[in-house]
Amino acid sequence: MPKLYFYYSTMNAGKSTALLQASHNHRERGLPTLVYTAALDPAGGAAVHSRIGISGVARAFTADSDLYAEIADAHGARALGCVLIDEAQFLSVAQVRALARVVDTLGVPVLCYGLRTDFRGELFAGSAALLGWADSLIELKTICHCGRKATMAVRIAPDGAVERVGAQIEIGGNERYLPVCRRHFLAALEAGRP
Ligand SMILES: [Zn+2]
Repeated sequence: MPKLYFYYSTMNAGKSTALLQASHNHRERGLPTLVYTAALDPAGGAAVHSRIGISGVARAFTADSDLYAEIADAHGARALGCVLIDEAQFLSVAQVRALARVVDTLGVPVLCYGLRTDFRGELFAGSAALLGWADSLIELKTICHCGRKATMAVRIAPDGAVERVGAQIEIGGNERYLPVCRRHFLAALEAGRP
């Protein structure tokens, strides 16, 4: 049975690498894939970039993208093995429902990869919807400096201070995020330093 999957983690846990590997595995077996990423950076083009240096071509989605119509068109032209979505935390609630329809109506598996929470520990809207609607929830793990599982990420300002407020979305700047366990997340917020 096709499923809607949500692979979630904190920052810098290898989500994009896992997505590109999954896409490669399908294509190697002759199953075409459709890869999406969020169109946050107008100058960035549409591609999935992993921190270990591999990248792949992707379609961009915006808040206005009709994902069901786009995927149905692509699937009609050539049967898809699966659809993969990077930066899935930026999906709207309606888009997550559209992806559920892709699974249930078109019979195409959809694999979403995204952050669970932002630098304040708040759920992203897309992630909240996916936690509610996905058939399968899979945590991708990375570790804190103390060796515990990192489930949160602090955002560090250029002066080295830990940010407690600010925009949820910042373009680029992955190096500003430090994945930490919950204990060290709370300690960093209280101390103002990582
Ligand atoms: Zn820790």
